[in-house]
Amino acid sequence: ATPTALLVGTGRGAQLGIIIKGPEVLESTRRVDTVVLDKTGTVTAGRMSLVAVHTASGVDEESVLRLAGALEHASEHPIAKAIAVGAAERVGELPSVEDFQNLEGLGVQGVVDGHAVIVGRERLLAEWGVHLDGSLASSLAEAKQTAEQQGRTAVLVAWDGEARAVLVVADTVKPTSAEAIRQLRALGLTPVLLTGDNEAAARAVAAEVGIDEVIAEVMPADKVDVVARLQAEGKVVAMVGDGVNDAAALAKADLGLAMGTGTDAAIEASDLTLVRGDLLAAVDAIRLSRRTLATIK
Ligand code: ADP
Ligand code: MG
Repeated sequence: ATPTALLVGTGRGAQLGIIIKGPEVLESTRRVDTVVLDKTGTVTAGRMSLVAVHTASGVDEESVLRLAGALEHASEHPIAKAIAVGAAERVGELPSVEDFQNLEGLGVQGVVDGHAVIVGRERLLAEWGVHLDGSLASSLAEAKQTAEQQGRTAVLVAWDGEARAVLVVADTVKPTSAEAIRQLRALGLTPVLLTGDNEAAARAVAAEVGIDEVIAEVMPADKVDVVARLQAEGKVVAMVGDGVNDAAALAKADLGLAMGTGTDAAIEASDLTLVRGDLLAAVDAIRLSRRTLATIK
């Protein structure tokens, strides 16, 4: 490939809202056959909101919102922001937190109003010996399951050794995601949805945008291994992501594409940045590179 033609390609990329790190990037794009997509913030808008609170019997909603809201106020996670904002809207000022701990990919814990509080996924509660089968929590398992089947994220709240509530957080699929995935398929690429979220929620989102292959409940540090495993199977992998937890996978992929609306860590680790955070730009990038390289040959 002649450098001049590739540079013309990168100039066209800029017009399409794609920032390309170097002209050589377009070369690796051509052979890509698999596109791994992060769910939250990539396929979905990542602007979550608190849509429901289910409490165990005898537990009042205000306490749940005060304790969970206070803890999540200290976290930067999109789920945490939704819970903190939703709680503050409903109960006003939130109490302060002691011994706060953010457990990446799992949730948060700390002491609020004298209670040892945990907010996060089932796996985190289980680490503390808290299970959803307790008599107080029997209705919670069902609320969680129903929410997840609707593609929502169910976050558990426990304090003093008992599960007390399920908070349901909803996100929306970006308006262009389904069309972008249809076009990726038309180019002969296989889309794969990758997420730390639970399997049922991931499958619901995948179905909404037309993805068959789902890899869910992946810990942040393990996303890179998923990319490596696909590469070991002989796939040439593009990865699209936005989060700090996507950075290693973006760097490992044959082509890393970051959402311009995402974190600096993701952008720095990537070969391309999709300025508007729109998946259709990922399709443009792949088309552009194919066209650019066809002109050169
Ligand atoms: P994703 O891959 O969708 O970006 P993460 O790896 O950041 O998600 O988180 C995986 C899961 O861990 C979330 O779906 C949620 O259930 C739980 N989780 C992570 N952080 C928090 C938090 N601050 N509060 C509650 N739950 C959390
Ligand atoms: Mg994300």
